[in-house]
Amino acid sequence: MITIRAFKFPKWLKGFYQTAIWDFSLNATEKNSIYLTFDDGPNPITTPWILDILGQYNAKATFFCLGNNVEEHTSLYQNIIEQGHSIGNHTMHHLHGWRTRTKDYVQDVIAAAEHIDSHLFRPPYGKIKKKQLNQLKELGYTTVFWSHITYDFDKSLSTEKRMRKTNEAIFPGAILVFHDSEKAFAQIKIELPKLMEEWARMGYTFAAIPTS
Ligand SMILES: [Zn+2]
Repeated sequence: MITIRAFKFPKWLKGFYQTAIWDFSLNATEKNSIYLTFDDGPNPITTPWILDILGQYNAKATFFCLGNNVEEHTSLYQNIIEQGHSIGNHTMHHLHGWRTRTKDYVQDVIAAAEHIDSHLFRPPYGKIKKKQLNQLKELGYTTVFWSHITYDFDKSLSTEKRMRKTNEAIFPGAILVFHDSEKAFAQIKIELPKLMEEWARMGYTFAAIPTS
């Protein structure tokens, strides 16, 4: 069986969602910044480990949290903020936008906002209807997609291939998706330190997505 993985979005889709952010290549806060993002947490195993490694590199990042997980692990959510990282909303229940009525989707984001204080929003799976995006925009949310998703949750992809694909996707202003989920932990534990070491050596710094 052939598995097709979309590490990047096609160009036409970027035109379709014009108000969304894909990367910061034109307005990186610093010239050599890259933007690491971590979705689906906070998680008691993975998130503290990631915070620790980010600290070692004096790196800032962005965590797109699930409302459900913040409710359960509020102190981890507070730790992320205290360490100077940005937070984003990733819905309450990890909804798939294409399969969810717009009203229910927007309600789920609003429910997550009870726990998550941010106007940054990332759609789970990158799947969101234009109507949903527009309604969230009207509510003040900025939708943040990515320039590269690492597939760190995918155990069938080799470490070597995933790291090569990720390294190829690096440019000033790149937005990369990792996951602070239990499923991704075995992979990122091995790969993230190596990747960050290499990028730091290349002169990149790690910035959080600005929230204002
Ligand atoms: Zn997600």
